[in-house]
Amino acid sequence: MIISVASGKGGTGKTTVATNMALSIGSGVQLLDCDVEQPNAHLFLHPVFDRTETVTTPVPEIDMDKCTLCGKCGDICVFKAIVVVGETVLPFEELCHSCGGCMAVCPEKAITEKGRELGVLQKGHRNGVEFIQGKLRMGEAMSPPLIKAVLALRDPTKITIVDAPPGTSCPVIETMKPADFILLVTEPTPFGLNDLKLAVGATRILNIPCGLVINRSDIGDDKVKKYANLENLPILLEIPFDRQIAEAYSRGDMIVDVMPEWKAKFLELYEKIKDLYVEQSS
Ligand code: SF4
Ligand code: SF4
Repeated sequence: MIISVASGKGGTGKTTVATNMALSIGSGVQLLDCDVEQPNAHLFLHPVFDRTETVTTPVPEIDMDKCTLCGKCGDICVFKAIVVVGETVLPFEELCHSCGGCMAVCPEKAITEKGRELGVLQKGHRNGVEFIQGKLRMGEAMSPPLIKAVLALRDPTKITIVDAPPGTSCPVIETMKPADFILLVTEPTPFGLNDLKLAVGATRILNIPCGLVINRSDIGDDKVKKYANLENLPILLEIPFDRQIAEAYSRGDMIVDVMPEWKAKFLELYEKIKDLYVEQSS
């Protein structure tokens, strides 16, 4: 089962929920941090890292000795990532989506592929939880291929919890697509509600069952609850605005380490997700 923990906006407590649920379930869980632009689950989980791999994406390399400047590579590239300029062919690696089209159409076989570094994959573990994160190279804009590389390491024999990037753009959709269940984390504020609506819209398009965690549930107003009611969104957990929780977060501690009574609540959250998933897929 893949549970994607997402939120319409950053700062709602998505990583707190993902890490604490993973650690509460313990062994047999895989936690994938797909928030590759700013992975921070490791700051709370404190895993022991034992492997780092570089992830690359193929981009074209031109052999100008073979090139006849026919322009076919530029014609096929909808991303304008390769152009014939004067007496040379210029690839723009940052714009390239690695589709291989230019290489396929080149009549002179003048194009080969080379790897462009996207970032790294890091693997580690803590208390039986297998942890994998992607870390995008500084200045790199193309995050979906790195997210795909993290997701490709999913172990189908385990419960996979995915910490998705915030928002509702391409990287988030990439992370939601393989999920069996999407857990949306929000807060009861006008911004929280606005971005929750966008995230719910995405889950509806993808046709994946979802449920809600309301963080800092005793601040703000009741509009998120009213919306959840209207949209038939089950509220699976409410986390109050609590000084001890806030202090644990600011120190980089896990809630379940500082307040062990929360372990049962996160386990109950997982059980509710499992029940809803079984119910909705039968
Ligand atoms: S691989 Fe695809 S996206 Fe990249 S330059 Fe060639 S045609 Fe364009
Ligand atoms: S398709 Fe091949 S031969 Fe034609 S311009 Fe591009 S690299 Fe040169």
